[in-house]
Amino acid sequence: MNVEVFKEKKVWLFDLDNTIYSPNTKIFDQIDQRMKLFISKKLSISENEAFILQKKFYHKYGTTLYGLMKNYKLDPDEFLNFVHDIDLSKLKKNSVLFKKINNLPGSKIIYTNGEKNYAEKVLKSLGISNLFKSIWDIKKSKFIPKPEMSPLKNLLSTNKIDNSSCVYFEDIEKNLRPAHQLGITTVHITDKNPTIKKSYVDFRFKTIISALDMINKNF
Ligand SMILES: [Mg+2]
Repeated sequence: MNVEVFKEKKVWLFDLDNTIYSPNTKIFDQIDQRMKLFISKKLSISENEAFILQKKFYHKYGTTLYGLMKNYKLDPDEFLNFVHDIDLSKLKKNSVLFKKINNLPGSKIIYTNGEKNYAEKVLKSLGISNLFKSIWDIKKSKFIPKPEMSPLKNLLSTNKIDNSSCVYFEDIEKNLRPAHQLGITTVHITDKNPTIKKSYVDFRFKTIISALDMINKNF
């Protein structure tokens, strides 16, 4: 796919964690730790056992939370409040990021498996809150996480988005699959060097900044 395609785009979907900020900040590692702690306390099991369960649910259900809800009838708010209670001081106001997102024509939306209040805090820390038309969080997705197709379809129809005018940035490769199936242009953000590029990945960049640089060059 040629970078020229971006000229036609009017809607920009951004994943939040490890996409809009770098994984080097280790922000998501804190959430990961809090999930383990929560499960360990809640189910009265060791942290090791909790970690195994956490990852099992993550792989089976898309999020640990969805697995806990399905198997333990857990209160999602209690979980979300606990795991998102973290230190965001590593996230600094980023005027470069602001400018590059602001340059994109049309609307920008956050699409995250996390929760809205947390997403707002992250965006505020980065100084980019007012760039986004809305935040589509896990509650709006009725707790059905990416990479499921249904929350994405809901997001698109609720916001009356023309799929072919839409771009989606995301660090977890498999989350791009449903978007690609719906005709959205997919951009994988990863600082690793995957040897194989999946057919549903249209573009791949090391950072969100390098992706936006390439795209902005075309306007
Ligand atoms: Mg992510």
